[in-house]
Amino acid sequence: MKKISLMGATGSIGLQTLDVIKENKEQFKLTAISAGRNIAETKKIITEFQPQLVSVQLKEDALSLRNEVPSGTKIVWGEEGLLEVACHQDADILVNAVLGSVGLYPTLQAIEAGKTIAIANKETLVTAGHIVMEAAKKHGVDLLPVDSEHSAIFQCLQGENQKDIESLIITASGGSFRDRARSELEGVTVKDALNHPNWSMGAKITIDSATMMNKGLEVIEAHWLFNIPFEGIKVLLHRESIIHSMVEFHDSSVMAQLGTPDMRVPIQYALTYPERLERPKAGRLNLAEIGKLHFEDMDFERFRCLKYAFEAGEAGGSLPAVLNAANEAAVSRFLNGEISFLQIEALIEKALEKHELIKQPDLDTIKLIDSETRNFIKKVSFN
Ligand code: NDP
Ligand code: MG
Repeated sequence: MKKISLMGATGSIGLQTLDVIKENKEQFKLTAISAGRNIAETKKIITEFQPQLVSVQLKEDALSLRNEVPSGTKIVWGEEGLLEVACHQDADILVNAVLGSVGLYPTLQAIEAGKTIAIANKETLVTAGHIVMEAAKKHGVDLLPVDSEHSAIFQCLQGENQKDIESLIITASGGSFRDRARSELEGVTVKDALNHPNWSMGAKITIDSATMMNKGLEVIEAHWLFNIPFEGIKVLLHRESIIHSMVEFHDSSVMAQLGTPDMRVPIQYALTYPERLERPKAGRLNLAEIGKLHFEDMDFERFRCLKYAFEAGEAGGSLPAVLNAANEAAVSRFLNGEISFLQIEALIEKALEKHELIKQPDLDTIKLIDSETRNFIKKVSFN
């Protein structure tokens, strides 16, 4: 039986991870979880799965939860609580499904504790990929991708040699506004942006899909996970989200991984790797029913965030951390109704332009840059 610690249990990936655990009770046991502020959902999870350890974001929530849960459940909070969940002694694998660069320190601590990591939290790899990958190598820890594109690439690479890879081809659905020109994005609302055509996800990543920053973050994530230079990473618009990504080899062969869009498939693969477990028969891929799949080149002027991500990735050093922090803060302002949709990319561009590159930033430098960038974005006014 595999014992699982789950960060971000109350989120979209977290809840789908719980589905997979529930469907395979003989294989998996949930030992520890972290949540943010959704205490009602946290209580439901405690009742159903009875984890030994639970961390929530705020102290007051933790203290009131303590009075409501069975005495065997330890309740902790804050950054320290998150670290405790990440390194829980009984867990074999940490599923990191927390949102944002808050996942960085717990990931590094879990690596040091020798945990296998199933990583959904792409912001961690974008912010400090060089530090995370070096730590994973040093401690001999596997980082198993949960993101569907990276899981696809990982599956295509089973039994292959790194030296034979020509390029990675990451597919993009195009997000909520894929059929609109830039000029049609002026007055779009939060509600419009949250209406993704193919995937049901958390709010932040749904906005990232609409700006195409999600694909940009995924390009940087792929660079670190698969050790491929940026010129060897391509993005292809594929509106059906059936091919989850591809690998082209030097001999011109292209391998693809396909399936209906369901995050429980890559989540489960990360949990069972290198083996596979049965999934329900309903909703499986029927290509004859779909009939046609469509592909287009990406327009880097239409989707500027993708261009910024390639540029920041290639420049390396501290720039990807700026890109990520600026994006997190700008998306948060958009979701709060403070700025317009196109101002998200305008803010990111301002933060990137202002920053003076540091080549090999250590963890403290990254932490500082992350918070300075967020403060800068919070203060910019468009009036
Ligand atoms: P959600 O917003 O749905 O969930 C985020 C989770 O993190 C929740 O459990 C939330 O707690 C918790 N959380 C948020 N902020 C904090 C904080 N400061 N401290 C502690 N916990 C916090 O996000 P998703 O599940 O959509 O995404 C999670 C990660 O997975 C992201 O990095 C995303 O890019 C990646 N990903 C998501 C995919 C998807 O289909 N959703 C696909 C591929 C990757 P609470 O809700 O209790 O406040
Ligand atoms: Mg993805």
